Amino acid sequence: MEDNITAIPESQVPPHNPVSDTNQIDIRYMTLALQEANKALQEGEIPVGCIIVSDGHIVGRGHNLTETLQDVTAHAEMQALTAAAQTLGGKYLNDCTVYVTLEPCVMCAGAIGWAQVKRLVYGAPDPKRGFTHLAPNALHPKCLIQHGILQDECAQLLKNFFQTRR
Ligand SMILES: [Zn+2]
Repeated sequence: MEDNITAIPESQVPPHNPVSDTNQIDIRYMTLALQEANKALQEGEIPVGCIIVSDGHIVGRGHNLTETLQDVTAHAEMQALTAAAQTLGGKYLNDCTVYVTLEPCVMCAGAIGWAQVKRLVYGAPDPKRGFTHLAPNALHPKCLIQHGILQDECAQLLKNFFQTRR
């Protein structure tokens, strides 16, 4: 139901269609978000990473720091939103795309909504804590959502983390 709102089915994408270019850009930024997630992993944190892009520039990045900071609000998105607001000198991120490796929780979706983020792209779904089930209206009504970009890589990183902790 909430599948790829902005995406066109593979079969309908003609060659050189801008949509496929967009996908290449999405993959590039999600790769950077994965690098952020890897930083979290190296610090013993649940590996989630986030990159915020405005007009082709990275204006914020962050990774999960809840253990390091002993702060339940220190999710990757919260770090990146704060960084982006500082970079841009304003709290509204209405020309920004947020790339995050895991579906945002209700708290982060709320923050993404308050910031009026233009577009959200996430990798792996979070069936337990993800906002799409718990708070589907948390985002700004105009926010475009896309998911599944590098989903397997994003999910595998989390799976590995939880396996090694058992
Ligand atoms: Zn969160």
